[in-house]
Amino acid sequence: MIIWYVEKETPGYELHWGVKRVLHERQTRYQSLRVLELEDYGRTLILDDAIQITEKDEFIYNEMIVHVPLLTHPSPKRVLIIGGGDGGAAREVLKHKGVEEVHMVEIDEDVIDAVRRFFPENASVFDDPRLCLFIQDGLEFIKSKKEEYDVIVVDSSDPIGPAVQLFEHQFYSDCFKALKPDGILNVQSGSPFYNKDVMKRVKRLLSGLFKFVNPYLACVPTYPGGLWSFTMASNAYHYSTADLSRAEGLNTRYFTKELFHACFALPAFINDFLNGV
Ligand code: SAM
Repeated sequence: MIIWYVEKETPGYELHWGVKRVLHERQTRYQSLRVLELEDYGRTLILDDAIQITEKDEFIYNEMIVHVPLLTHPSPKRVLIIGGGDGGAAREVLKHKGVEEVHMVEIDEDVIDAVRRFFPENASVFDDPRLCLFIQDGLEFIKSKKEEYDVIVVDSSDPIGPAVQLFEHQFYSDCFKALKPDGILNVQSGSPFYNKDVMKRVKRLLSGLFKFVNPYLACVPTYPGGLWSFTMASNAYHYSTADLSRAEGLNTRYFTKELFHACFALPAFINDFLNGV
């Protein structure tokens, strides 16, 4: 008999995944944590009943949240990742040879422990000499930083549990201060179908701080609705001026130079709700 993991999005929309094995389950100080082996997607990390990564499709989200801002910036050397406990974003950042130092701030040590145990390929980045891992609330960490980072990637869970305030004005304003004047902030901004308000809010809040604010999309099969958004913001760099020669040799499976520009082309219904039509 097959066991199903069910992710409930709305009263009318549930995702069902066939489970091969339950590998780990616990309540951490911050959230519920589960590692399952899914029939179709392999090992899967679930926090507060939301899939964070699966072995089979995590490359899509992690390549897209990282390479777009890191290539838009002409020479990123110091990068901060807020959240990102699964290690995938850090792995992609470290593919950029010019990056000298990566700070990663994950609130929940139990996520790191579970990744070390069940996702050893991802966990190897935690021991990279260019990566410095802080187990701390990103909200507190960022407060004391001033003009330190070229790029900040907010690889947070959705706005529930410990991540709620990572979608608020105060946090974005602290990120703005923590960035060098020509820095880039990139945040995961949810599903255009199921988190329309999150996407709108992120764009509105970032537009109050940055000159260029550009949402973009990727298709992630295991996220609700399949289509996912990121929102990139900077006062100095617009994606259209990026020099993509550094994209050569990144060894990616989803991201390509062509996709870099294509991902910013938004469907009409998304433009409409973002522009308040
Ligand atoms: N790709 C994922 C997604 O969108 O579902 C996000 C990946 S990553 C696992 C998200 C991480 O953000 C989690 O490990 C969570 O513990 C961490 N997180 C949530 N709130 C945080 C906070 N306030 N400070 C630092 N990390 C936080």
